[in-house]
Amino acid sequence: MRKLTVSTLALVMAAGAYMGAGTGTAEAAKKFISIGTGGPTGVYFVVGQSVCRMVHKEAAEGRKKGRKHGIRCSAPSTAGSTYNISNIQAGELDFGVAQSDWQYHAYNGSSKFKDKAFKGLRAVFSVHPEPYHIIVAGNSGIKSWNDLKGKRFNIGNPGSGQRGTTEVLMESYGTKKSDFKLATELTSTEQSKALCDGKIDAYGYTVGVPNAGVSVATDGCGAKIINLKTGVEKKLVDGNPFYAFATIPKGTYKTTDSDVTTFGVMATFVTSADVPEDVVYEVTRAVFENIDDFRTLHPAFKNLDPKKMIMDALSAPLHPGAKKYYKEKGWM
Ligand code: GLU
Repeated sequence: MRKLTVSTLALVMAAGAYMGAGTGTAEAAKKFISIGTGGPTGVYFVVGQSVCRMVHKEAAEGRKKGRKHGIRCSAPSTAGSTYNISNIQAGELDFGVAQSDWQYHAYNGSSKFKDKAFKGLRAVFSVHPEPYHIIVAGNSGIKSWNDLKGKRFNIGNPGSGQRGTTEVLMESYGTKKSDFKLATELTSTEQSKALCDGKIDAYGYTVGVPNAGVSVATDGCGAKIINLKTGVEKKLVDGNPFYAFATIPKGTYKTTDSDVTTFGVMATFVTSADVPEDVVYEVTRAVFENIDDFRTLHPAFKNLDPKKMIMDALSAPLHPGAKKYYKEKGWM
């Protein structure tokens, strides 16, 4: 007999994005979820595709064992961290990848999110470290942040995490947009080509290591990554729980002939308190049941450690669906 349980109905009504596909039974009702990522050449895009892949794998294997979750997942390319958070808040996305600094500020209503706190933001897990890179053309002579003055610098597209973090650095160094010869707003996909074509002298990018986009500029046209380890970065790291010093190891790219020291954040996976518990539970479960696969899907994921992923760099409260799985595993 066809039946639609109250809980399924409540779930469908609670979140417009979850569409019953009319299969009739509660267990088989299809739910569509979307995960906000970043530019197509970034690591966030791979996080999103990987999570969907694990969700679909669990769906297929679960079907054989009579354990159905009915979730269908898509992970489109987006503008990045702050775009993802704002669109989760607006109910346009169910999940998203976001830098730990922007997770913190969105939840606490600070920095870019001043007077716009998103108290419904929920953490699910953290993913890979993301050093903040300043990548400079090989012949630009730029060796430090202050050398960027008078140069053509890509501050990043609005909505991206690096745009926000670049603005934080600008404020900390007392650098104004007008100090640059040109401040462009190119996306992460456009910036390396622009650098190699001689249209910009440098760009700022917060991204996992290694990254295909960065290698276009470094391996492709001799761009270099500079150190950021002055008193300014030290103050940022000392004063904020979401920043830490980070190393881009020697040999990562053709032009990294010694370790690069900079500061960085963590990539985190977030959702909204409005996303139903069973949906977040199934997504969390799919990720951690397949963590060995996850580690192989990008070199930036190779050190993923569940114990750290459920604790580190999360400033919004954990979503109850994620917590349920972590408790079941005895991790909490
Ligand atoms: N950290 C970047 C951002 O928040 C995205 C990096 C990536 O796409 O991997 O927008």
